[in-house]
Amino acid sequence: MPGPVDLHAHSTASDGSLPPREVVRLAHAAGLAALALTDHDTTAGLPDALDEGRRLGIEVIPGIELSAAHRHGELHLLGYFIDPASEALREALARTLRYRARRNALIVERLNDLGCALTLAEVQQEAGPGATVGRPHIASVLVRKGHARNIQDAFDRYLAEGAAANVPKENLSPAAAIRVVHDAGGLAVLAHPFTLAAPSRGALLERLARDGLDGVEVLYPKHDEVLRRNLATQAEALGLFITGGSDFHGERKPETRIGTGIGNNTHVPYAVLQRMKDALAARRRA
Ligand code: AMP
Ligand code: ZN
Ligand code: FE
Ligand code: FE
Repeated sequence: MPGPVDLHAHSTASDGSLPPREVVRLAHAAGLAALALTDHDTTAGLPDALDEGRRLGIEVIPGIELSAAHRHGELHLLGYFIDPASEALREALARTLRYRARRNALIVERLNDLGCALTLAEVQQEAGPGATVGRPHIASVLVRKGHARNIQDAFDRYLAEGAAANVPKENLSPAAAIRVVHDAGGLAVLAHPFTLAAPSRGALLERLARDGLDGVEVLYPKHDEVLRRNLATQAEALGLFITGGSDFHGERKPETRIGTGIGNNTHVPYAVLQRMKDALAARRRA
């Protein structure tokens, strides 16, 4: 079996701090056999990442991370082995981008009202050309301009759900997000389930499974052993495979390392990726 893998990483195409090629280089240098690039709401980083993977001889899986709205808030859905040219995917991403543009403007307005001097242009510049712009970029500008001590402080004081400058995103429903991933030929995986309120987690997983979910991200830096065991048991009972990854963001999440998570706590064997490939092959045969 090939070496370990990391199935969750961000680049400058969304809110990571390293360009796609550098993320792949880092994964290769860390001894990984495969890396999935899963930027928020964009496939813009994939061509460079795939090309760098071919050059270095590391397998790069085309991925994406979509947001969806459920009854108790937001959840994230990872798509793997997606075709970036898919019409359904392109359409959903274009819509999300329009929502985000409106929302970012509203957040900046609220921050201005709260006495934080910053402009939308500064936020766009922070994200760079063509990137999916979101709250992490706004947080970086707030820190740089002295309105917050660090990224976490910016979220806690201004940007987190329920905080003064937060504006909810208009998201797809989970079922619609799963459908978009399937239409693009991919596998749909629930990202970092620790973010879902514990009491409703089991019921939500069942619901998502009925909506066509394929897998659950179990191996994740912020999941302790107990949660990993519980999630694995639930996934198994629902016929879902498990996945894992670091959620690498470079300097925007400095404690998280590619391939190993936080403090060396997350390792994903190749067998996890093999199981996904088998599931995909079975579906494409069916
Ligand atoms: P957005 O897509 O613009 O809503 O930004 C979502 C991203 O912001 C997530 O992927 C996290 O990286 C980050 N984030 C969301 N909530 C928090 C929080 N409470 N503290 C720190 N980072 C957060
Ligand atoms: Zn992110
Ligand atoms: Fe996420
Ligand atoms: Fe992520």
